[in-house]
Amino acid sequence: MSAARRDRLRAELARSGPDTLLVTTPANVRYLTGFESSNAAVLVGEDAATLLTDGRYVEAARAIEGVELVQSSRDLASFLGERLGDLVSGPVAFESGHLTYAAWQALSGSGIELVPTAGVVERLRAVKEPSELDAIRRAAAVTNAVYERLAEDGGVLGATEAELAWKLAGFVHDAAADGLAFETIAAAGPNAALPHHHPGGRRIEPGQTLIVDLGAALDGYASDCTRTFATGPLPDELARAYAACREAQAESLAAVRAGASARDVDAVARRRLEAEGYEVLHGLGHGVGLEVHEAPRLADTSDAVLEAGNVVTVEPGVYLAGVGGVRIEDLVIVTEDEPEVLTAFTKELVTLA
Ligand code: ZN
Ligand code: ZN
Repeated sequence: MSAARRDRLRAELARSGPDTLLVTTPANVRYLTGFESSNAAVLVGEDAATLLTDGRYVEAARAIEGVELVQSSRDLASFLGERLGDLVSGPVAFESGHLTYAAWQALSGSGIELVPTAGVVERLRAVKEPSELDAIRRAAAVTNAVYERLAEDGGVLGATEAELAWKLAGFVHDAAADGLAFETIAAAGPNAALPHHHPGGRRIEPGQTLIVDLGAALDGYASDCTRTFATGPLPDELARAYAACREAQAESLAAVRAGASARDVDAVARRRLEAEGYEVLHGLGHGVGLEVHEAPRLADTSDAVLEAGNVVTVEPGVYLAGVGGVRIEDLVIVTEDEPEVLTAFTKELVTLA
């Protein structure tokens, strides 16, 4: 599987610039080799791939097939600064979004011409293979089970956001995930007006909205789902915000299909929310895979065109400073037709006690 991915990368490289790419982004290294490490790089050339890692990982790296293994020092960039010239002759493309300036300086010591590139492997990763889709479906099934259990259990009133987040982590564990895909967001009352709130000591009170944004990690892949709950009858402005967000979410979800421009899909929700008088604080969604935020992005600045096999979120939000907020997020597989929605938990407003 990794060998086929490297071949697809070579076809990309043949179209654009140097035919050798130094891959340093950990998720990209993992995608191209199956090797997971906090300190590894892979040099993909025309007819060979060289995996570099330090002594802590070298034993595990011996299991990786189809690559030449080179044990480096812990400072990979300095090691390559001395050795890159032995491994390649022509110019080398590097991942400009990941390599630090200090690492670039060290690499430059090699005398090899370095050519910045961005998003090459990320574009390949954006279209998922069947086995990747399967892993994401299973990760989404975990979050579905967690939301179902939360809806049955309730028990949120009087708990702090942080306590709820810990409880949900336990549910994720019970559902046999490998872990959380990201730190759970549990945001109640005025905190729900902060899109990326860090759950804290605020106690959940009646008559508020409670945003829960949760993802499970399974076999290296992530899921991502947000639901907004009520903790009793809501004040009118929050009930109205929920209805507007739900409609914006349904309309933009219906626009997701292969060939659609990501910017246009974002605009569907944006226009609807702005027509209701709400300010839009973030883009509509993002790709999900080995990383919880990856290509393609659904935003007003995105140039992406959706392709079958993309996995994206559709997550408009309404945020009323000092009052509360609403966000509804589905995780979907893009197809030629209607998207396959992986986040099955209801989008009707559910009241938790
Ligand atoms: Zn999310
Ligand atoms: Zn998301």
